[in-house]
Amino acid sequence: MERIALFPGSFDPITRGHESIVRRALPLFDKIIVAIGVNEEKKSFFPLEKRKAWIETVFASAGQVEVVTYTGLTVHLCRELNVGFILRGLRTSADFEFERSIGQMNKKMLPGVETVFLLTTPEYTALNSHIVRDIIRHGGDASSFIPVGVHID
Ligand code: ADP
Repeated sequence: MERIALFPGSFDPITRGHESIVRRALPLFDKIIVAIGVNEEKKSFFPLEKRKAWIETVFASAGQVEVVTYTGLTVHLCRELNVGFILRGLRTSADFEFERSIGQMNKKMLPGVETVFLLTTPEYTALNSHIVRDIIRHGGDASSFIPVGVHID
């Protein structure tokens, strides 16, 4: 059976931290589906189509990576796409507490799916999309925080 992992997030925008998690997870899975979650109650900073196109550019040469968008529960998407694993990145103890509760709730709802965590590499521990958005919003240079090949105008 194919080992398929779903990497859900808002990717608003994708950062080098996200990219690193996916690249390091590639040897573990046959396929990784990057799933951009759309929260209907929260407006994103970048449009969905741009966020998707940027991720597709980053992984254009990685045949095992697909990008999808979704609304609703991650476990419903897992069932629909028949994935066995949810991939998440851990930066800090705050991430751990947040992820623990989501991971345990997902396990209750869909016991056949395992959440797999990769620790962030030290250079990306402080990096998150929120900081990148702030830098861009205020006219700073965020290029060293976003993947090579992604051009945010
Ligand atoms: P963010 O927290 O940057 O807004 P998302 O909500 O899109 O990102 O998170 C998607 C997943 O990516 C989460 O598991 C999150 O922990 C992980 N992630 C985000 N930034 C990093 C990073 N710098 N290093 C490792 N994992 C990260």
